Amino acid sequence: MDIYSSLVDIVGTERVSNHAEELFIYSRDSGAQIPRSADYVVMPKTVEEVQSIINLANKEKIPITPLGGGFTLSALVVPNNGGIVMDMKRMDKILEVNETNRYALIEAGVSQAELRTYLEKNHPKFQHSTPEAPPTVTVTANALIQGHGHISPRYGVNSDMISGMEVVLPTGEICRIGSSSVSPYWFTRGPLPDLSGLFVGWYGTTGIVTKLSIKIYPKPKYREVMAFSGDDVDLITDVIADVTYLDLLEDFFLINQEKPDWMNHIFYIVIVSGHTEEELELKKNAYKNLFKGYKGETISFVEELHPALMKRFLDVPPLAALAADFRKGGGFEYTGAILPIDKVPEAWRRGIEIAHKHGMLCSYVHQVLMGNSIMFGFNYSFNRADKEDIEKTRQAIKESNAVTFELGGMVWKGEKEAQQATMKKMDQNTAKLIKTIKSVLDPNGIMNPGNWENT
Ligand SMILES: Cc1cc2nc3c(=O)[nH]c(=O)nc-3n(C[C@H](O)[C@H](O)[C@H](O)COP(=O)(O)OP(=O)(O)OC[C@H]3O[C@@H](n4cnc5c(N)ncnc54)[C@H](O)[C@@H]3O)c2cc1C
Repeated sequence: MDIYSSLVDIVGTERVSNHAEELFIYSRDSGAQIPRSADYVVMPKTVEEVQSIINLANKEKIPITPLGGGFTLSALVVPNNGGIVMDMKRMDKILEVNETNRYALIEAGVSQAELRTYLEKNHPKFQHSTPEAPPTVTVTANALIQGHGHISPRYGVNSDMISGMEVVLPTGEICRIGSSSVSPYWFTRGPLPDLSGLFVGWYGTTGIVTKLSIKIYPKPKYREVMAFSGDDVDLITDVIADVTYLDLLEDFFLINQEKPDWMNHIFYIVIVSGHTEEELELKKNAYKNLFKGYKGETISFVEELHPALMKRFLDVPPLAALAADFRKGGGFEYTGAILPIDKVPEAWRRGIEIAHKHGMLCSYVHQVLMGNSIMFGFNYSFNRADKEDIEKTRQAIKESNAVTFELGGMVWKGEKEAQQATMKKMDQNTAKLIKTIKSVLDPNGIMNPGNWENT
């Protein structure tokens, strides 16, 4: 009760809870991982409140787990050792959009939908990179976990787009990262030591990010989806190399579903855009020409894409994974394998084998990241009300992650076993460096360690 009262002193009664029904929600996420309990949930509104909560946590040696939208699916926002869940959603102000220097400065709880809608209304010539995730997920958490959005195949993963941050360190100091530490502009991470790496890609917490500056990009007036389809899995590597080499696309993903039958082909989805109709036509023709007679006419242009799919793919973000709720039970989980492109055919076959072994149907959506790698989602839909189904999904995910490692890939935002396997596989001096940095930043160990230290 002392901790509860101290939290009330910091944020008021409306934004803190230790009620069982609210804690129930915060002790699980929407993925297939096992729930773990939380003791308090608190929703700060200002950086000073965040600072006071961190000071309290240090005094009481109580862990803190920050939460944005809570949709990472691998239980990253479910506390490892109880304590305080810090829900960032009340920090939801868009502070500045700088068109000339092309960044948006936002608070940590700003959702993807909020930023997108704000830009559409007030800065229609600009866009930010939006993931296919539910609209309530936060821009900040997505960038911190190296997420990817609808223009990532053109501009890079979303963590590359960070141009500044404000962070409350685990010891309570407020710190600025990037140009904003020197200048009123939040426009670049350099020329300075790139300290953003202390907070990006940890899949556990090394500080609470309270403000984020994220790059915005031109939004061409015309946009169109082109679909090509084929059945030869062994051709995928060449197709990806050839399509990305043309360097004219905005988004590029591969999709396949075993059901309905007409979707059981490899669909290559290329989104092109242009400031003029001529530019758009030129790009479309370039891709059509690429596939004319391609490798003995093995790939064809889909003249009339199903209208439902057309709309789904053209939406920002595209809702490509939506169709695959085979089990009609609302559960969906995918492994975010980051694979070398030449390993895609083998991963594709092995994913189908895993799904069938567990009596599941297979679906894929893979986003090609700038021709260097692919986010290869082994997707599983399951029925939330069916315990056996959930267990099968966990097993399928485990096996898919093992395949990913075997093929030289990396598991993105992995659940406990995968994250621990990454640590084990890692060069041991690198692993030691990570631990040293963490203990220097967080001497009292109050920040959620994330899945790789989860016991
Ligand atoms: C159907 C579906 C499709 C998806 N498609 C995509 C996709 O296309 N691209 C993609 O990138 N992802 C995708 N995802 C995964 C995920 O939903 C997104 O990456 C999402 O943006 C994560 O944001 P979040 O706010 O939910 O993060 P959370 O789950 O709330 O948090 C993620 C991590 O960041 C930490 N964190 C949160 N806020 C802070 C903060 N302020 N300071 C420090 N640490 C913090 C958390 O503790 C946690 O470790 C998808 C998920 C679903 C369910």
